[in-house]
Amino acid sequence: MNCARHPESMAIGFCCSCGRAICANCHRAGSTGKLACSPECEKEIAERDSALRLVLTRTTRSTKGAGISTIVLGALFSCLGIYHLLFDRHAVLIGLGFTIGLVFIVSGIILVGIAKKK
Ligand SMILES: [Zn+2]
Ligand SMILES: [Zn+2]
Repeated sequence: MNCARHPESMAIGFCCSCGRAICANCHRAGSTGKLACSPECEKEIAERDSALRLVLTRTTRSTKGAGISTIVLGALFSCLGIYHLLFDRHAVLIGLGFTIGLVFIVSGIILVGIAKKK
């Protein structure tokens, strides 16, 4: 396989944007660190990368938001458990409030942890 622009040179890879075969002479080690045959292709790869990063940041943010609202929900259920413990001592509702509350708080903390790792 030879370079699309230099038929005499061996291709070292393909342009990440247009897919043309490129040799060491036209390989541009751009800011993206990916193979590109021209400044135009390099720009396009950089744009695609930043778009991808944007999507990733958004996903991370929504995971964190979901985690926090799950913790809040868990706290509300725990309050319900405390309420029944203090006022009517309804064993089933106390158990239910604390169990659901705990499950929500733990999964919320896990979600926030996942969001932090990314
Ligand atoms: Zn290209
Ligand atoms: Zn070339």
